[in-house]
Amino acid sequence: MYSHDVLIIGAGLAGMRAALSARQGGADVAVISKVHPVRSHSNAAQGGINAALEHAGDDWRDHAYDTVKGSDYLGDQDAIEVMCREAGSEVIQMEHYGVTFSRDEAGRLGTRAFGGQGKARTFFVADFTGQALLHVLYEQIMRAGVRVYEEWLVLELIIEDGECAGAVVMEIRSGDVHVIRAKAVIIAAGGLGRVFEPSTNALVCTGDGMGLAYRAGAPLMDMEMVQYHPTTLKGSGVLITEGARGEGAHLLNSEGQRFMERYAPNMMELASRDVVSRAEQTEINAGRGIDGCVLLDMRHLGERLIRERLTQILDIARDFANVNLLEEPVPIRPGMHYQMGGVKTDVDGQTQLPGLYAAGEAACVSVHGGNRLGANSLLDTLVFGRRSGEHAAEMSRAKAQKDLDDSAADGQKAHIQRLLDNERNGDMFGQIRLDMGRAMNDHLAVYRNQAGMESALDTVRQLRERYRSVYVQDKGRTWNTNLVFTLELGFMLDSAEAITLSAIERKESRGAHTREDYPERDDETWMKHILVRQTQDGPALDYMPVAITQWEPQVRSY
Ligand SMILES: Cc1cc2nc3c(=O)[nH]c(=O)nc-3n(C[C@H](O)[C@H](O)[C@H](O)COP(=O)(O)OP(=O)(O)OC[C@H]3O[C@@H](n4cnc5c(N)ncnc54)[C@H](O)[C@@H]3O)c2cc1C
Repeated sequence: MYSHDVLIIGAGLAGMRAALSARQGGADVAVISKVHPVRSHSNAAQGGINAALEHAGDDWRDHAYDTVKGSDYLGDQDAIEVMCREAGSEVIQMEHYGVTFSRDEAGRLGTRAFGGQGKARTFFVADFTGQALLHVLYEQIMRAGVRVYEEWLVLELIIEDGECAGAVVMEIRSGDVHVIRAKAVIIAAGGLGRVFEPSTNALVCTGDGMGLAYRAGAPLMDMEMVQYHPTTLKGSGVLITEGARGEGAHLLNSEGQRFMERYAPNMMELASRDVVSRAEQTEINAGRGIDGCVLLDMRHLGERLIRERLTQILDIARDFANVNLLEEPVPIRPGMHYQMGGVKTDVDGQTQLPGLYAAGEAACVSVHGGNRLGANSLLDTLVFGRRSGEHAAEMSRAKAQKDLDDSAADGQKAHIQRLLDNERNGDMFGQIRLDMGRAMNDHLAVYRNQAGMESALDTVRQLRERYRSVYVQDKGRTWNTNLVFTLELGFMLDSAEAITLSAIERKESRGAHTREDYPERDDETWMKHILVRQTQDGPALDYMPVAITQWEPQVRSY
């Protein structure tokens, strides 16, 4: 058995930021990750990270207001204030740790414009900001002496006397199952993009963290709020960063029109993501698309700017769509990108289960509400990663380890054996995963309605049944990726159900949740969060008020 003060599940930006601050707080810290740390999805973040730096003439209150408006007034304003107030010092701290942010002509940290914001406040490293941040944080946790369990899969949280006391984990290389004791556990296991097919997310984004918390009884919040990003490539769904529009790219329909002038005359292509995605989908549905897409045109930006600031997407467009961005527009469409909801926490990362924290995309503080602003997620991972690490370290000081033994892993060992014993009459994980992804993308995308969502819920419940007899072809223990993917699929089905149930419940349109049958926002009834909790009788729904500090809900236009 292994033991640590603080165990962090996930080595993306949230997990590593939490590890660093918990270590600086004097705790014995371990990070566990199912992939090598720098292969976490944070690595793929392109566009940048938001902060209002005062010496650059910006004000955190303006950033907070843009975030509140972007969230369609569902974000908790007290939490948004914390995030925006601490953004500047966090970005500067990262610069001091060694992140080589792109500079302006005068040699100061440069900014680019991002959607839904009144000011250019997105700091960036060309179009690979996430990679730059992630590598620097990895160096820092190595230096600080954080233990990393790399390519280990967390299977279950251990709950003892109503408190989180550690986790059951599988070493992927050997297939051995172990118990890790911890006084505090932080879930930083990232998003669930792959519950939808296609998605901009890496294949490893399977919502394990949300599933782990949900199974342990901690509620998930705002799960109906799924972001469809306006610019994803046809077919593969690979992301073209919002940084492209930030640098001035145009959106065109089949008639060559910059159609955003009809939807968001002031901010045009840089309106909030939900607004731009709805506009694109409306154009496509009205027959003004091209093969299910609209066009992103960057030709007028010029080769020098594109090669300097958008080099990665130049390659992506060439490799995945066979398009040379310098010479022709690229077909794009709205695609699944981000989960605003997650494990409900407070501003210190504490969930409703003592000893259990969450941060990053797996968590819901809630700072994004109904729609996340581009470049606010990297910020969320760092600010709330750091805060949860600090709090967990402090809490662990006053606490003793629970008395656990290896039998805590017996349930998971038996579960794995059952999966391996399943006969060949069931589907393999891939078919179930694809059927789930397609049903979610068909019915929980940009436009939703009751009948569609009910049919998706039906599908998910049938898939749960099929999952019981899922067939794992590889019976070995060494590097059994077939088994790993099958275990991930179990978590994905939890998330799919939570998303669908919450979406059916919210009978209005707000942020990313747009219903054809309830087209208006209804502040009277629905200015509240929806929570889903697993109980013995199945999933149960609950509500929480939205925290409002200084910004009363208004009509939202861009
Ligand atoms: C293509 C793309 C571009 C983006 N660009 C931007 C951007 O420019 N700006 C912005 O603000 N946001 C952006 N985002 C969103 C942002 O990158 C993510 O929300 C954020 O990086 C998530 O970080 P995280 O630390 O929460 O999770 P991740 O980086 O996804 O890390 C999750 C970690 O959890 C581990 N893990 C998961 N499950 C288990 C398990 N069962 N056992 C063990 N380990 C587990 C993984 O191994 C991994 O280490 C982008 C997202 C994508 C997909």
